[in-house]
Amino acid sequence: MSFTLDIKGKISLITGGTRGIGAAIADTFADADADIIITGTQKASVTKRVEELKRKTKGSVEGWVTDLTDVNSLDEICGRIRSLPQLDILVNNAGINHIVPIDEIKYYDLERLITINLNAPTLLSGAAAILMKQAGWGRIVNIASIWSVITKTGRAMYTASKFGLVGLTKTTAVDLGPYNILVNAVSPGFTLTDLTNSTVPADEQKRIAEQVPMRRFAQPDEMAHVVLFLCSELNTYLTGQNIVVDGGFVNV
Ligand code: NAD
Repeated sequence: MSFTLDIKGKISLITGGTRGIGAAIADTFADADADIIITGTQKASVTKRVEELKRKTKGSVEGWVTDLTDVNSLDEICGRIRSLPQLDILVNNAGINHIVPIDEIKYYDLERLITINLNAPTLLSGAAAILMKQAGWGRIVNIASIWSVITKTGRAMYTASKFGLVGLTKTTAVDLGPYNILVNAVSPGFTLTDLTNSTVPADEQKRIAEQVPMRRFAQPDEMAHVVLFLCSELNTYLTGQNIVVDGGFVNV
C-alpha cells in the first residue's frame, strides 16, 4: 500500500500567499496540483506570485488583491468567496505582529491587529463553510503561533489574537464536524520570514536559536508540509487541534 498527500484539483484559498509561510503553502499546494487562489495586499506582488505558481501547477491559479484590515474589505472578500462555485480548502495565514508593552497599546493598533489576525479568519471561515457544507467536504487551517500556547513580554495584542484563533479553531471544528469539514490550527515557532526579520533582531535570532531543541529556526516549507497533511485526503479524523511546529521550543 502506498500513500500520497493528495489535494489535486482541490480549490484552495490561501490568505497572505505572496511571501513567507503563505508563499510556501501556495508553492506546496502548486506542487500538489491544487487549484489555488492567493490573496495579498500589493497588486504587483500578487501578479508576480500568480505567474510563478502557474509555472508549477497543473491546476488553476488566481490572485485577489485585498487588505483584510476593515469591515469593507472583509465584506468584499466574503462576497467573493460566496460567489465561488466551490471552495474545498481555506488557509487563514495572513497575519501581523506588533510588539509593544501593555501600557502603550493604542486602540487603532489593537483594532487593526485583531481585525487581520482574528476577525478575518472568523468571517472567512463562515463564508467558506457555506460552500463546504454544500459539498460535504472541507478543510480549514488557521495559522496561529507558539504565542497561542506561551507568551513573552510585549506581545499582549499578538498573543490575545493567536489564543483567540485557537479558540475559533476549536469551536469551528465543533460546528462543522457533522459536515465532514476538519478545522485545525498550525502554530509555527520561529520561522525565517520577513515578519521574523522585522520583529526579531539578528543577534536575538542567534540567541533564541540556541534555546530551540533543534538549534535552528524553521524554514517556511516546514510549516507548509504540515498544512498539506491536514488538508489532504489522508487526514480524515484530526480536527479541532493546535499543531505546534516549533522544533520543541515550547517544551523548554
Ligand atoms: P510575513 O509578514 O512574511 O507575511 C505575511 C502575509 O500576510 C503576507 O503575504 C501579507 O501580504 C499578508 N498580510 C499582512 N498584512 C495584511 C493585511 N492587512 N491584509 C491582508 N493580508 C495581509 O509573515 P509570515 O511570517 O509568513 O507569517 C504568516 C503567518 O504565520 C502569520 O499569521 C503569522 O502570525 C504566523 N506566524 C509566523 C511566525 C514566524 O516566525 N514567521 C511564527 C508564528 C506564527
